[in-house]
Amino acid sequence: MTHQCSIDAASIWTRQSLPRVAVIGAGFAGLSCARALSQRGCNPVVFEADDRLGGRCSSRSTPIGVFDDGAQCINGAPRLATLAVQRPGELVAMHPWTVPATPAEEARDRKDWKLEVDEANVDRTLNLMGSVGVPSMQTLAEALAEPLDVRLRTPILQARRRGSNWLLRGPAGGFDEDFQALVLALPAPQAMPLLHESAPLTDALRAVRFRSRWVLLLGSERPVPLPGYREFQGSPIERVAAMHSKPGRPGFRPQRWFIEADERWSLQHEHDDAETVADLLLENFCAHAGRKVTPNYLRAHHWPHAFVEKPATTPRHSQCLWDGDVQLGVCGDSVVTSTVGRVHDSGVAMARAVAEGLTSRRRSIVAAPLDRSRSPQLEPQL
Ligand SMILES: Cc1cc2nc3c(=O)[nH]c(=O)nc-3n(C[C@H](O)[C@H](O)[C@H](O)COP(=O)(O)OP(=O)(O)OC[C@H]3O[C@@H](n4cnc5c(N)ncnc54)[C@H](O)[C@@H]3O)c2cc1C
Repeated sequence: MTHQCSIDAASIWTRQSLPRVAVIGAGFAGLSCARALSQRGCNPVVFEADDRLGGRCSSRSTPIGVFDDGAQCINGAPRLATLAVQRPGELVAMHPWTVPATPAEEARDRKDWKLEVDEANVDRTLNLMGSVGVPSMQTLAEALAEPLDVRLRTPILQARRRGSNWLLRGPAGGFDEDFQALVLALPAPQAMPLLHESAPLTDALRAVRFRSRWVLLLGSERPVPLPGYREFQGSPIERVAAMHSKPGRPGFRPQRWFIEADERWSLQHEHDDAETVADLLLENFCAHAGRKVTPNYLRAHHWPHAFVEKPATTPRHSQCLWDGDVQLGVCGDSVVTSTVGRVHDSGVAMARAVAEGLTSRRRSIVAAPLDRSRSPQLEPQL
């Protein structure tokens, strides 16, 4: 699938003469970077291995409806909402998500289940969880990608320099296109095979470790007496989120629950198969719900690079890494902490670094020489 804006002949000519930048990864770091690059007068092309946009902040279609299967809510990224609107008057694909503190309050609002909590104990507080994509997280990624050239199902296996340009290779061979700059918006373990041309960036990312995480997607015809979002301490389950409690999600039945295992538990069960993990997490979910839950949909999913343990050390708290000698950058949660808001900022900072790097090269301004004995290479002053 290729997303491309409709453009007239004059703008095609202009676009072809713009500096071409390859962005690998269509998560929120890569998409934010590509959007900011096009605003800065570059022509980005995004390559994505998967058949969907959004990476770890996306959604999965199932026979019982759509689940957000990675990030559940976004905090601290006000500019994302403005990027998610294409035309004046269009509704934004991102809305605040508030959750009643108790399931009983939700029930009263919807009048669709029998109250199971003592009226006197009802807490009427609404908690603001953050913002969510509407009607799904993937919609938000699609809104970001709409004006961009994104190549889905296109894994990049190799990146090498020819002269001052970048050439890319996928499973079917090399692409007949070259790029003036390359951005890797990927977790460090996935970026490493594409970093051969930059020793400083290789050094910077070598020490970056990611933690894995199991999640369970569960459907239930019978309402589960838990609030739409809850975190747990000292349990195999770290948190649960109900899709039906998010804004703009059609249908309350069957209920769709996202269940995220705790970090330690995920590590202990890293090599278990999905069926075993699903059974164990279901048992624990029932314990939290205080009763048996009979699922009509159950699927455990393992995220091998879910959260960064410790991002790359960067000078001056930079939000991205940039090697100006080879016009190669890295953004996303290899460099910042694992939240959608932070990787969005990282992508935007990356675009600024790339645009400044390309501009100074075109003007033949010799940037301060890279001290290749020190790593990592610095992101230009932003
Ligand atoms: C279970 C879970 C729950 C989370 N919950 C929250 C939350 O509630 N709030 C929050 O803010 N954050 C949350 N996070 C963290 C957040 O989702 C991530 O930090 C963020 O989405 C990372 O974005 P990214 O663009 O850096 O990377 P990614 O989203 O991982 O994007 C990288 C993309 O690159 C693609 N790719 C990989 N290799 C290649 C290749 N060789 N060629 C082409 N494409 C490639 C991948 O398919 C992927 O789409 C959660 C993460 C997980 C896993």
